[in-house]
Amino acid sequence: MKPPSIDHDLALLKKEPQIAYFSMEIGFDSRIPTYSGGLGVLAGDTLRACADLEVPIVGVTLLNKKGYFRQGIDSDGNQRELPADWNATEFMQLKGVQVSVFIEGREVWIRAWEYFIVGVTGYQVPLYFLDTHLSSNSPEDQEITSHLYGGDSCYRLTQEVVLGIGGVRLLRALGYLQIRKFHMNEGHAALLTLDLLAQEREHGTMESKLVEAVRRKCVFTTHTPIPAGHDRFPAQLACSVLKGNFSDQEILRICHDGELNMTHLALDHSEYVNGVAKKHGEVSRGMFPGFAIDSITNGVRSVFWASDPMKQVFDQYLSGWRNDPFLLRNALLIPLDEIQKAHQQTKKELIEYIKHNGGVGFKEDVFTIGFARRAATYKRGDLILREPAKLLEIIDKVGPLQLVYAGKAHPNDPSGKELLKRIIHVMRSIQEKIPSVYLANYDVSLAKVLTAGVDLWLNTPRRPQEASGTSGMKASLNGVPNFSVLDGWWIEGHIEGVTGWSIGPKPKMGVEEPSDDAKDAEDLYHKLRNIILPLFYNDPAGWDRVMHHAIAINGSFFNSHRMVYQYVLRAYFS
Ligand SMILES: *Cc1c(COP(=O)(O)O)cnc(C)c1O
Repeated sequence: MKPPSIDHDLALLKKEPQIAYFSMEIGFDSRIPTYSGGLGVLAGDTLRACADLEVPIVGVTLLNKKGYFRQGIDSDGNQRELPADWNATEFMQLKGVQVSVFIEGREVWIRAWEYFIVGVTGYQVPLYFLDTHLSSNSPEDQEITSHLYGGDSCYRLTQEVVLGIGGVRLLRALGYLQIRKFHMNEGHAALLTLDLLAQEREHGTMESKLVEAVRRKCVFTTHTPIPAGHDRFPAQLACSVLKGNFSDQEILRICHDGELNMTHLALDHSEYVNGVAKKHGEVSRGMFPGFAIDSITNGVRSVFWASDPMKQVFDQYLSGWRNDPFLLRNALLIPLDEIQKAHQQTKKELIEYIKHNGGVGFKEDVFTIGFARRAATYKRGDLILREPAKLLEIIDKVGPLQLVYAGKAHPNDPSGKELLKRIIHVMRSIQEKIPSVYLANYDVSLAKVLTAGVDLWLNTPRRPQEASGTSGMKASLNGVPNFSVLDGWWIEGHIEGVTGWSIGPKPKMGVEEPSDDAKDAEDLYHKLRNIILPLFYNDPAGWDRVMHHAIAINGSFFNSHRMVYQYVLRAYFS
């Protein structure tokens, strides 16, 4: 059989990609709003770190032509979901190749937009955005790649057919024939395993060896310890949507308890599986007994997330850190006041942003607490606002405070929207004494300003629901200490009083203790009043030392370079 000719400039890539990375969302540029939060930003940081390290990888995602949504917040604290249309032609190039999949028996055509992620050495990682907006498709099918996490479960499954099955077919059609590992970033792309099985069969692999052959090629990263976060579809829906690609018999064979469970599908067909922090690995092994589940703790891409003033300081004292962020461990050699000066500059920028976009005047010398993440109830964004009287007492006794928040609620999450509204109402009631603002439309550019510009980064998830969390790593890198519940990555990054502070009890290995809101809030107020604020206001040098340690101990480790090295050694080229 003659191999398909290598499309175009694939030959120009320095090394032919051997890893294919699939993610429902990818976030690295606020002008390309095809992501909703942590999962997408992690995918963006992963591919960019691969580009920095010249790992031969290719990315696949959906175009999400109408984005996630742009968030507006009205005067009563109601979230408004505005369209986030964007124009692919400004950033990427349409490829001439098309492939098709069957959806409910209809043939649906898919095209792709090509984007090159350029690393610090100039190495390029190709990334394909799949798109069904073609006149050969029905108007309804043209919308499959329009809305990230929109619509009902049928729409979602349809998108997953395009991502998983369409994605592998597209890579083949483009001439990527050396892929040794298919990495599923979360279960959304797990249907790709069915196409790989069919391929193996076509190539004459014995029926009894098919699954093993596919397992050797697949890597799966699970991202949530919440059972509802794992995609599941009724077997009947799966049979009807997948009709034309696979027989009912084949689909029923992969169903668990009458459902197509994407996590199980990925687990069954992957040789290497991991959670995204040590604790999350442990929780996942409990959820899926019988599977070997490793953990690789997430990281963030240092050169992107360090603020410009901090980058200049690092350039001056830690030459080479940009593509070797482990050098950040030597941050202890940087004079204390240089870190503080760079931080003040970033804080000033944040204060400008707040004035311009939130209409609230913040002061440069006032202790500023930041909290920004998806407005999901398990993250308990309102924990610090549980007893406003306590906060007022703290500012009376110790020193002033400012609060800045951001984060979107999922359009179909009424309790998340309620939470957002409640936070805004409490903020308004304390506004006179504690300047507070909820900034609209949290995205990567706002995250950059916020994580670097505040004085303390707060996180209060209900345990053990924070798989990893990455915004706290962005803060650490910028010398901003974390104040957080011991869950996810913070269990690994926390040294009390050295890199930041914990909220609530220490986790016990193998024992799940549900979080107690009242006790956690009490601990939060106690530490704020007796340890954190006094340090900030009464011992500036002591505070600067914590900033130093956040960079040296956490910035040097919780970065995507370390994470990618681990994926390369344990999953990609093991
Ligand atoms: C980093 C980031 C996240 C993830 O933050 P968590 O700490 O995991 O909640 C979400 N959204 C944006 C825009 C980010 O930059």
